[in-house]
Amino acid sequence: MRLYWCSECNIPVNTKTCPLCHNKCSYFAMDARPVFPEEIILLEILLHRKGELQGRSVWNTKGNRYFVDGEHLEFSVQKTIEEWDADLAHQLYVKETSSNRVENDAFQSMISKFILANKKRLNKLEYNSFELIKKVSEDEKFKNRIKMISFSGGKDSTVVSSLVRRALGQTDILHVFGNTTLEFEETYKYLNLFRKRNPLVPFIISKSDRDFYKLCEAIGPPSRVMRWCCTVFKTGPIGEEIDNFSGGKKILTFYGIRRSESKQRSNYDEVSESPKIAKQIVVSPIIEWADLDIWLYLLTYNELFNKAYRLGFSRVGCAVCPNNSDWAFFLNRVHFPEQSSKWRNFLIDFSRSIGKIDAEEYVDSGNWKARQGGNGMEVSQTKIKFEPCATEDNARNFWLTKPITKDLYEYFKPFGSLDFERGIALLEEVYVWGRKDEKKVKPLIKLQGKIGQNHLKIIVDPKMLKTSYPGKSYLLFEEWIDCQLRKYQSCIECGGCPAICKMKAITLINDEYRIDSRKCIGCMECIAHFDRGCLVTKVTQTRRDS
Ligand code: SF4
Ligand code: SF4
Ligand SMILES: [Zn+2]
Repeated sequence: MRLYWCSECNIPVNTKTCPLCHNKCSYFAMDARPVFPEEIILLEILLHRKGELQGRSVWNTKGNRYFVDGEHLEFSVQKTIEEWDADLAHQLYVKETSSNRVENDAFQSMISKFILANKKRLNKLEYNSFELIKKVSEDEKFKNRIKMISFSGGKDSTVVSSLVRRALGQTDILHVFGNTTLEFEETYKYLNLFRKRNPLVPFIISKSDRDFYKLCEAIGPPSRVMRWCCTVFKTGPIGEEIDNFSGGKKILTFYGIRRSESKQRSNYDEVSESPKIAKQIVVSPIIEWADLDIWLYLLTYNELFNKAYRLGFSRVGCAVCPNNSDWAFFLNRVHFPEQSSKWRNFLIDFSRSIGKIDAEEYVDSGNWKARQGGNGMEVSQTKIKFEPCATEDNARNFWLTKPITKDLYEYFKPFGSLDFERGIALLEEVYVWGRKDEKKVKPLIKLQGKIGQNHLKIIVDPKMLKTSYPGKSYLLFEEWIDCQLRKYQSCIECGGCPAICKMKAITLINDEYRIDSRKCIGCMECIAHFDRGCLVTKVTQTRRDS
């Protein structure tokens, strides 16, 4: 999209000639969002320009550049973060907004003009989205699916929710909200308000029972390259919840994904299969929309939206997300000092514990987000120690860091069925029958290890391996076994495995890792999904290990 600036009406328009005053407009930006009066107050404080920006037409474009009445505003986000004490900014903001009325009238009249001038564009976008929603809903292939809106509390899913309900003329479309427990305070407030205003909209809220801070203590905070939290706190619990209510029925999800959000998303299709959640077809009715369009819609229809946007947040996800910008981190400190200081203090303590000398600087500058692995952390249970057996082919002797208990055998269930009866009793031998060996001719794996001891001998039958896993190499199978042993040694019940098992065969009840053999189909996803078999191992491995 190309946006132009009408200097007469003082607004961005998407045509070279202003539809309102017919003035010739000049190029403005590829996309933009309105800056609300609340954010303008903060800008005035940070720039020491009290009273100078309120009531003017302020917009923010890509790269976090601000424009006032079409003119670029000298304001460096980076410099502000470096120079400003967020706590002081918080105090000044509270003082300013509690003693003075937030100027809203001028903003509203500017927005009314903006809506009118860009009406045509919205009509066209809306028409296309309606058509898509109706077409997919009526399609024979998807007709009998359960319709669902993935509702995050952000602006995009708010628009999708409204579009779908209007297009289908139905209020009772299921909304699913994945409560990561780490959302912005404003998101929870918005969610409650939305539900109050739309009492007929059915809501399902999924929530992980894992404790984010405890997991962070064990495996370190998530970083950009290791966002372990999404699996554990979002996709896992949502998938589980969908499984519970759908009773195996297929789902049609409406999702607020947009191409303009990132390069990666630019190849997304309007209708596709969910890469993360089984049995889901995902429809993206706003895939072509820009930021400006989203605001055009919300403001035109006077939709209720998350107040965090009025404060200057350009996206609202988890407050702790390493993908949030440094600016969002700063804004969070200014507007939600309690929530953000808990996280900031944790990050500072953690950084100290891994030997960062200037921990505060490391955290505030955002460098924590680039952490690569478990360097400096004491999670060393992940190494597997073994030797090939000198007297027996295809056998390896392991020395586990954790003595053998019954729990060990759970991890062998994906390979086949366990048999505690037929092996040599003296060796406490356990057989694993291959999945294709229904007559139980020869065990695929023999496990020889005594409860309470650390020595475990594993013998794999190469012939039976060929029968069970044609085309898979012996080496790969050994890898798989190592992955499972690693889990046995180091599983901290992060929730990663249950989250990725599409058959819902894995549970962590009372912190015990259990695989339900009746549900497990041996797809090996729980083994192959995470590098080295375990999310925690993957996250905590140091560069030296790998
Ligand atoms: S084995 Fe699975 S549940 Fe346990 S810590 Fe690793 S990924 Fe998490
Ligand atoms: S992911 Fe596959 S192999 Fe693992 S428990 Fe689930 S069904 Fe079994
Ligand atoms: Zn104009």
